[in-house]
Amino acid sequence: MYLENHKSWKDWKWQLKNRITTIEEVEKVLDCNFNEDKKKVLKKTIEKFPLSITPYYLSLVDASDYDNDPVFKQAFPQVKELEVCRADIEDPLGEEDDSPIKGITHRYPDRVLFHVSNVCAMYCRHCTRKRKVGDKEYNPMKEDYEAGFKYIESHHEVRDVLLSGGDPFLLSNDLIDYLLERLSKIPHVELIRIGTRTPVVLPYRITEELVDVLSKYKNLWINTHFNHPKEITEEAIEALDKLAGCGIPLGNQSVLLANVNDCPRIMKKLVHKLTANRVRPYYLYQCDLSEGLEHFRTSIGRGIEIMESLRGHTSGLAVPTYVIDAPGGGGKIPVMPNYLMSWSTNKAILRNYEGVITTYEEPNEYAQIACDLECRTCHLQLKLDKKDNIKSIGIEKLLSDNSEIITLTPIEE
Ligand SMILES: *Cc1c(COP(=O)(O)O)cnc(C)c1O
Repeated sequence: MYLENHKSWKDWKWQLKNRITTIEEVEKVLDCNFNEDKKKVLKKTIEKFPLSITPYYLSLVDASDYDNDPVFKQAFPQVKELEVCRADIEDPLGEEDDSPIKGITHRYPDRVLFHVSNVCAMYCRHCTRKRKVGDKEYNPMKEDYEAGFKYIESHHEVRDVLLSGGDPFLLSNDLIDYLLERLSKIPHVELIRIGTRTPVVLPYRITEELVDVLSKYKNLWINTHFNHPKEITEEAIEALDKLAGCGIPLGNQSVLLANVNDCPRIMKKLVHKLTANRVRPYYLYQCDLSEGLEHFRTSIGRGIEIMESLRGHTSGLAVPTYVIDAPGGGGKIPVMPNYLMSWSTNKAILRNYEGVITTYEEPNEYAQIACDLECRTCHLQLKLDKKDNIKSIGIEKLLSDNSEIITLTPIEE
């Protein structure tokens, strides 16, 4: 490729400055010509959602077979992107509805999503936040950050803050340091997570200086987003090694994408490469219902088939949780093959990954424990802090002995 020998290739700012943003540039780099009619439509897709590929990420594309290339498919639009189908939703996860203030999504009891950046190094064609990303009107400003801190400070139940975006690692080291420092000063924030795709699309961003900043924070976790084993290059491995080397636990969230990684063997290869590089596969997402993503969506059955091919067949550490993020803001729902086949009063029938059917006898003596949620008098010796939340909701509440509620009734529209 024509740029790879450039003296600044490994400079992440050079990579950003030289992002490929037009169809013509892609043609030049891949030495190909798209048909003129198709080009007209492709241009419409990038008016709707910008094209932006780092030279590094584009260099991973096999120019002789780009149409089938998993990197190309994630970075370059398809004509089908303009098709909005019946099931599509602009904000499929209801993030706006769960947003008490701009930049914060608070859906779960004890954790929030804090959108601290609105830009990415590469715009993934399968992005679930297409509606927002690259939106000039929503670039967080200092006031937005302060409002976010204020919200978190005044919500004592928030013990886990996920920095997301856009990509937080496109912010400057100083700003990242500032955000982490501010959050670290909030006593009830026990844990900070950063979601970033830079190890995949811009591994040179993981500089010594950045790692020096990150390693100051001992409660920091990083989740990245590898979708295909091809993305785990020498450069990516080096970036992961730098992050893991300073003690940051690493996770990975993949999205199941039709014709990209919807294959048990590809997924197995991916999770093996991840674990070999100290990255724990965390989630495998069913592709969301964002507008124009139908061509990326698989059946749920395909996801279950992939999970079936992993559990038992390979290290448990390499098996992610397969989740569907419920349309309309219900949050992540795990789905998996059925292992519990049947059940009697004191016996469960289970099957393993090989199809062996087995029985598990339950103890005769396990008496129902009537819990009154008075942990102070319980013999299990739980030392509760004042801030510990022992209120139960949802199915947990239905199961609780302490609840008068015996049904959950949907709210009328
Ligand atoms: C995914 C997500 C989280 C984090 O969920 P975990 O299951 O704890 O990783 C938090 N808030 C929102 C809005 C999310 O979408």
